[in-house]
Amino acid sequence: MSKFARHTWHQRERQRRITRLMARDGTCCSLCGGELDRKLVDEIDPLYITFDHVVPLALGGADDERNMKLAHNACNNAKGDAVASG
Ligand SMILES: [Zn+2]
Repeated sequence: MSKFARHTWHQRERQRRITRLMARDGTCCSLCGGELDRKLVDEIDPLYITFDHVVPLALGGADDERNMKLAHNACNNAKGDAVASG
């Protein structure tokens, strides 16, 4: 599989997952409540949509959508830092 094909597959799966989570939870960030923009594709964009684990994997949380919420990249990182330092 070429790098491009893999990227395309990843983006398609990602968008499907976002569609399912938005249908369940709405279109706002689970951490700050701000609007999510699913058209952003740059992974370093602070507003890029990420999948936040409700129960962290390190604490035995499941790696599936029942244990995921949508969050901005920056919000998810800020939360992760807080956990790491606390
Ligand atoms: Zn946010």
